[in-house]
Amino acid sequence: MNRDVKPASGMAPTVTEPPDIRTVGIIGAGQMGNGIAHVCALAGLPVTIVDIKPEALTRAMTIMARNIDRQVNRSIVSSDQRDEALARVSTSTDYSALNGADFVIEATTEKEDIKRLVFKALIPNLKPSCIVASNTSSISITRLGAATDRPERFIGMHFMNPVPVMKLVEIIRGIATDEPTFQAVKNLAQKLGKVGAVSEDFPAFIVNRILVPMINEAVYALYEGVGSVSAIDTSMKLGANHPMGPLELADFIGLDTCLSIMQVLYEGLSDSKYRPCPLLVKYVEAGWHGRKTGRGFYDYTQTPPRPTR
Ligand code: NAD
Repeated sequence: MNRDVKPASGMAPTVTEPPDIRTVGIIGAGQMGNGIAHVCALAGLPVTIVDIKPEALTRAMTIMARNIDRQVNRSIVSSDQRDEALARVSTSTDYSALNGADFVIEATTEKEDIKRLVFKALIPNLKPSCIVASNTSSISITRLGAATDRPERFIGMHFMNPVPVMKLVEIIRGIATDEPTFQAVKNLAQKLGKVGAVSEDFPAFIVNRILVPMINEAVYALYEGVGSVSAIDTSMKLGANHPMGPLELADFIGLDTCLSIMQVLYEGLSDSKYRPCPLLVKYVEAGWHGRKTGRGFYDYTQTPPRPTR
């Protein structure tokens, strides 16, 4: 069914079938954007990535090629599949490159004002039937959807980092999200080999509602001198059987993203137990955003990375 055809009455078309997603647009070529592009391209979907920074697009292509090469070396992917997947990915700094997309996912910086500006610039370039998703880790899907012309075709699709490895995708309906949109995104998650978990639209959804306050508590433990970076990470790895220590994980996620999530929890739930640790604030203010900037709780210019406290 062509969802772009308006009935003669001018009323919106009635849609019962979930639309088929055949082409994907991604906004934001950071660690999540390139991971989402990676899994979509390997699943056979043509992908266009848009970012304001040309260098972010070049970097994303390099990282994606390197990550798919790793899968080739482990015989998870053949070299033909790698070549075909990379040929499906194009990049642009112009939103008009997304005018044919069936589905666009926003994966820009975790700041509501940035995401609003992105939707304002993006929407006029999309076909009316295009589903728009956000990969936000914490921000209200209802509020973001209301900033677009299509809250009924707006949804949260929250991938985990690193996208090619992590199985889960949280799917979050805003109050206006319609059923075909939800089904289409559920089908897409399945096509990408992911397991979907439905979360209601509460601050930080399920995973980050639990995970990021734990990370924030680890930063408090460091701030109050309960233990050093190594002692805290070693304790949680060997004492709680976590594959990564909380501070190592914070660096991996990005300290700017962790802080934004805590701020959304703090403001959204009006509960002081979500107060961001002042040390986390200070690191972000210093531009120490973790792995992606070369320094966070560890210094990544050293091999192996050296704890900074
Ligand atoms: P990142 O900092 O690695 O990348 C963000 C990208 O957005 C950058 O390339 C930047 O140039 C681009 N950008 C910023 N403003 C833009 C604009 N106006 N138009 C186009 N591009 C713009 O961030 P990330 O870790 O990839 O996170 C992206 C999103 O995914 C955030 O909403 C974050 O909360 C979410 N997320 C992150 C993780 C994680 O572990 N890092 C996990 C799940 C979801």
